[in-house]
Amino acid sequence: MNYKEALQHPIFKIISQSAKELQLDSYVIGGFVRDFILKRGAAKDIDVVAIGDGIKLAKQVAKNLPNRPKVQVFKTYGTAMLRYDDIEIEFVGARKESYTEDSRNPAVENGTLQDDQNRRDFTINALALNLNAENFGDLLDPFGGIQDLENKIIKTPLDPDITYSDDPLRMLRAIRFATQLNFTIAPESLHSITKNAERIKIITNERIVTEINKILESETPSIGFLLLEQTGLLKYILPEITALKGIDEVEGQRHKDNFYHTLEVVDNIAQNTDNLWLRWAALLHDIGKAPTKKFSKKVGWTFHAHEFEGSKMVYHLFKRLKMPLNDKMKFVQKMVFMSSRPIVLAQDIVTDSAVRRLVFDAGDYVEDLMTLCEADITTKNPKKFNKYHNNFKIVREKIIEVEARDHVRNFQPPISGEEIIATFNLKPSREIGIIKEAIKEAILEGVIPNEYEAAYQLMLEKGAKLGLKWVND
Ligand code: ATP
Repeated sequence: MNYKEALQHPIFKIISQSAKELQLDSYVIGGFVRDFILKRGAAKDIDVVAIGDGIKLAKQVAKNLPNRPKVQVFKTYGTAMLRYDDIEIEFVGARKESYTEDSRNPAVENGTLQDDQNRRDFTINALALNLNAENFGDLLDPFGGIQDLENKIIKTPLDPDITYSDDPLRMLRAIRFATQLNFTIAPESLHSITKNAERIKIITNERIVTEINKILESETPSIGFLLLEQTGLLKYILPEITALKGIDEVEGQRHKDNFYHTLEVVDNIAQNTDNLWLRWAALLHDIGKAPTKKFSKKVGWTFHAHEFEGSKMVYHLFKRLKMPLNDKMKFVQKMVFMSSRPIVLAQDIVTDSAVRRLVFDAGDYVEDLMTLCEADITTKNPKKFNKYHNNFKIVREKIIEVEARDHVRNFQPPISGEEIIATFNLKPSREIGIIKEAIKEAILEGVIPNEYEAAYQLMLEKGAKLGLKWVND
């Protein structure tokens, strides 16, 4: 492979020239080189290592660029960043790192390129391309990273026990890369992750969530979750998911393993949506099943009200992981809470009123809910599989039909409380609520259409039944 091809963008020549002016060597390193070899599409991030002062190099590059971009300096990290042509370029001086037991923030001193490559997390992330004019485009691959890319292996440059213990975030990065790239983690690495799993406790929740999100955004997220479980990391991060593991048997009756079921649902939904929060909903849709699981002789295994329990757990989980407690969280809660609704519907004959109620309750999220429920069909019985999918197809068609006719999504009652008050000359009272509810029910049940005239008539009838006097002006 001709690695010069990776360096065709004019920025590389400018970096090279700037480094020469400062009489230092510079290299492109890490993800950019890896993704070029993997042909993962044009990278938006470039990491540059200077053998010397990285911040100085960044400033020199900015000076040599036609638009003189601003250089953002991160003093604590000794790095600098600038943007050019939509590309983020990060500069760092080559460094040597040493770690202490209780922190992932190392003591840092200046080092050689080799020192810098040693501190990288994986052999495939330690590849560097020379930017010096005389050796422009030469590859520096001290740990066999190219071989590992070919063999699809995630391996640490140094002793994995040291690499993972120094910075436990790397355990999650290993699993994330294995999931994104569909690579295998080398056995000694996997063993070491398992051994060091508990050290994940020193990593901040924000960083953990970044990695979990990247796993969820992959094509087959189950690869990552299986590895997280297998290495013992999952119980520190998402104990709610580990709790779903296992099958109980009482008097010959078994329930399904909800952990593996959940992973199947996540993989299914990944085929149909890129919406990260809908993927989160798939991951969490059954978490209420662990605390609500019961066995009774009469009905066997039940998970009574697990959707309600699950939606409450979503809040606590988001809070613990310092995830946003905003409309995204509420969306996930709603999906979990409603996750069984279309299923019940699809097991039976699909009536208009049931669909109307579904649209009313799910509002704008009804399609997302359908996508979740379709992903939830993991039965291995082809007859049932086809039947459920067919019924969901009918539900989807009916949603469109009912919506076109009745407009119950984001339902606004055709008769307002004020109109009821004025019609019967009422003070604020219980009767107003009763009439409003009766109108809503009649519309959802299909007794009357979602129109003013019909609702007005019903209001009069209902008022008469309640003994109210119609003030006819
Ligand atoms: P992606 O952009 O998909 O996250 P990346 O490899 O570019 O992939 P970055 O987090 O941008 O990921 O890191 C850039 C480079 O810095 C990596 O390729 C790796 O060489 C190094 N690196 C990042 N994080 C660590 C870490 N925790 N330990 C050691 N090296 C790291």
